[in-house]
Amino acid sequence: MEKTIGWHFDNSYVRLPSIYYSELSLHPVHLPKLVLLNEDVATSLGLDIQALQGEEAVAVFAGNKVPKGGEPIAQAYAGHQFGHFNMLGDGRALLYGEQITPLNERYDIALKGSGRTPYSRGGDGRAALGPMLREYIISEAMFALGIPTSRSLAVVTTGESIYRETEQPGAIVTRVASSHLRVGTFQYAAHWGTDEELQRLADYALERHFPNDYGEQNRYLHLLQEVIKQQASLIAKWQLVGFIHGVMNTDNMTISGETIDYGPCAFMDTYDPATVFSSIDRQGRYAYGNQPNIGGWNLTRLAEALLPLIHEDQETAIQLAQDVLQQYPQLYVQNWLRGMRAKLGIFNEEQEDKDLIEELLQLMQQYKADYTNTFIALTFGQFDESSLFNSSAFKDWYQKWLARLARQQQTKDMSQQLMRQYNPAVIPRNHRVEEALEAAVEQGDYNVINKLLKVLAQPYAHTKEQQEYASLPEPCSQPYRTFCGT
Ligand code: AMP
Ligand code: MG
Repeated sequence: MEKTIGWHFDNSYVRLPSIYYSELSLHPVHLPKLVLLNEDVATSLGLDIQALQGEEAVAVFAGNKVPKGGEPIAQAYAGHQFGHFNMLGDGRALLYGEQITPLNERYDIALKGSGRTPYSRGGDGRAALGPMLREYIISEAMFALGIPTSRSLAVVTTGESIYRETEQPGAIVTRVASSHLRVGTFQYAAHWGTDEELQRLADYALERHFPNDYGEQNRYLHLLQEVIKQQASLIAKWQLVGFIHGVMNTDNMTISGETIDYGPCAFMDTYDPATVFSSIDRQGRYAYGNQPNIGGWNLTRLAEALLPLIHEDQETAIQLAQDVLQQYPQLYVQNWLRGMRAKLGIFNEEQEDKDLIEELLQLMQQYKADYTNTFIALTFGQFDESSLFNSSAFKDWYQKWLARLARQQQTKDMSQQLMRQYNPAVIPRNHRVEEALEAAVEQGDYNVINKLLKVLAQPYAHTKEQQEYASLPEPCSQPYRTFCGT
């Protein structure tokens, strides 16, 4: 007899008004096979690792069987996609419910690629293996980097082909998130729901994510303020590691402050604020350097959706919301500066730190330096013969930096310790990710991906083994491109 898996569902989302979701029936796949299982995530969810490899669990990961206590739904939401408002919803995702962990935390257990839903529009509801493995790799790397994110519990192949530009093996990822509430969920509520339905959603979000005491404060303004805080912190963390989300539509921005929706995302190699990887982002709306502003734009959409709850008089509501919204740029910069200071081994604050940081970034851009490796070189004081490090402008900057470090109490050793904790030795470099995906998808060889996952799991370990993963790709005539909705 198989050991029990350990499902422990309590599905609060289905207790919301029915406009927020559609009940789903399953679309079983032909021949599911487990190819990746995240033991770390499984354990924290209170699930049995051995049982998760059994037939029953694999059927759950494939969308062939509802887990005990699960109630499959697709969530309804709207969103601004590249600035255009649309009705969306889970077109290829299925939420089984919320797993209550041994520590009494609540996590959504959802599938992506599990078949059509009432929100699929023209899509097939399915996903290809490469992009699902990619989501697994990048989300795990983000987690290890200390960045709030959804995680991946498992990937199964379906035994079926799906058709994109070419025929591809189908796959399903099981995604775990503290919720899938999005800015777009509130836009949907404001657009198609009654004020009461909107209020139910806002109360739900407060209870689920920000249950702390907000005293006399207007609770919906408090909700807005908390999401602003979370997103200011999240986007600063993206910028600090050079992560480019690629599709910051309002439906892909969470209320919890977790990163979700790993479609066309990628990490920047050469520092350049204009970096874009997504093939469909032709205007560079979601370029690296634009992410903080887009965060603000999206939060303004959330504020608009919440207006009827903030105050019955619209003018007053707008004024109150604006007062909160205008804190976002400052909050973002504070978070970013704190992180940048740490990356440079700086403990205390000086007014001029921002100039020192920006000067370094400008030099990186001018000399086309690798973002991650420049900080690693500074951390270990090992400078190669690159044009940046050989330039007299860098040498001047370096002296200024040393003088800055000398103006704090902490020793050089302490600075280095700090820098080691904030400057990753490895990021999921695009050529490494592609190599791992190719081995898995083309040859069914999961050794490369498993080795990559292991290295990415400890980005701040600075081991010898990682050095190989810090090397840059061979110069390539074509820029790296990523794809959405794949
Ligand atoms: P995304 O930009 O990946 O967040 O996707 C935008 C919307 O398109 C979401 O509502 C998705 O559920 C939907 N979608 C993406 N791919 C598919 C697909 N293959 N079939 C159905 N819906 C999809
Ligand atoms: Mg999405």
